[in-house]
Amino acid sequence: MINTGALKIDKKVCGKCNKNKDINLFFNRQDSKDGKNNICKACKKEKNIIYRKNNKEKIRLIKQKYAKTERCKKKKREYYYKNIEAIREKNNIQLRIYREKNRDQLRKAFRKRKRNYIRDLHDTYIKELIVQGSNLRHRDISQDIVDAKREYLKLKRHLKK
Ligand SMILES: [Zn+2]
Repeated sequence: MINTGALKIDKKVCGKCNKNKDINLFFNRQDSKDGKNNICKACKKEKNIIYRKNNKEKIRLIKQKYAKTERCKKKKREYYYKNIEAIREKNNIQLRIYREKNRDQLRKAFRKRKRNYIRDLHDTYIKELIVQGSNLRHRDISQDIVDAKREYLKLKRHLKK
């Protein structure tokens, strides 16, 4: 119910469907006389759907522009940290489903990558050789050591031929 001084309005005629509807069925609108929209919620929603349909490109550009603003980035960050557990959980589930669905393909790709790493004496392969049987992690190994080990392996391979 809206109190406009002595006059109390609890019904209003929608400017679109012309039905006399309960005031609660109208959205609030600060710059209007009675503080309510001139069309009812149902009509407003319908209008929005049509507008969105007819202005897809325009809306996309506005969204794109907004996404680049600090305000949007800040909101995104805040949302992320507020929901970090739920987001992680959701991502984990999606990842599990994806892996399950593509298991054979992923396994094949993994094997192929590994073969290529060995063939090319890739950093990852060399680091793997170095860390084997130690407490070291890949990131503990400097590029100099990787390069030295690579040269050594190249030499070994060469001598084998
Ligand atoms: Zn209406």
